[in-house]
Amino acid sequence: MGAVSPPYSQRFVEEGDLAPTLTVKEWSYILGDHISYGNTKIEDTVAIFNTGAASDCINLNSDYCQVGPGECYAVQSEEEFPCKDYRRRQQIIWDHLDGQTWAKAFRRHYNRKETPVTDIRFSEAGDFRTQHDVLRVNEIARELDDIVNVYTYSASSWLDWTDATHFTVNQSNAKGDFGDRNYNVVADPENMPDDAGLWCPFDQTDRNIKCGDCRVCLEPDGPDVYIELETKTSGPGTPEE
Ligand code: SF4
Repeated sequence: MGAVSPPYSQRFVEEGDLAPTLTVKEWSYILGDHISYGNTKIEDTVAIFNTGAASDCINLNSDYCQVGPGECYAVQSEEEFPCKDYRRRQQIIWDHLDGQTWAKAFRRHYNRKETPVTDIRFSEAGDFRTQHDVLRVNEIARELDDIVNVYTYSASSWLDWTDATHFTVNQSNAKGDFGDRNYNVVADPENMPDDAGLWCPFDQTDRNIKCGDCRVCLEPDGPDVYIELETKTSGPGTPEE
């Protein structure tokens, strides 16, 4: 029962706004078609869903982004791999569903899965665009609290993150003070201040320890994390890798 249902996706894209006519069961297949599991850096038990493409990211090339113009690995991967349209379809789905419906659809997808699902990672590409995004992810995390942990990374420091009471937030820029920890990109591990936090184990272990094995960014408690720019820009984060 874990098979995807291309006809639902095709119908959705071709006919546009079918939200009022679709059941939660139908949405669960559409959602299942647009959730990936694991990549070079993330364990296969982690479900990944983007609320948009990196190329459309609200923080792209702005002062809020943690990397400079032209350095975003996720944008580069969208040029290199055919994933931009997929992520744009994810945004269409995201913009059609309230939190409760998304959660109900995910639960059905989860119940069909034959392999373990431990966490949901929101936005390996793109970023939170509105306060509604924070509230919606929080509602999803609250609804699914009995089956998965929910986490994200964000540079949308202008939003009110006090609404993120049920999911883990890694602050990925140095602006403001929000979330559960800072996730810092440095050019060289030597740039990491003494006793400032944890150098990402993915870097330290030749990429053997992945997000999911290591749960620092997935759970609210834990130190700030430092990661090398080279790792950040080399591409982990694309479904194909
Ligand atoms: S610290 Fe752990 S959870 Fe965070 S990015 Fe590194 S491996 Fe992943």
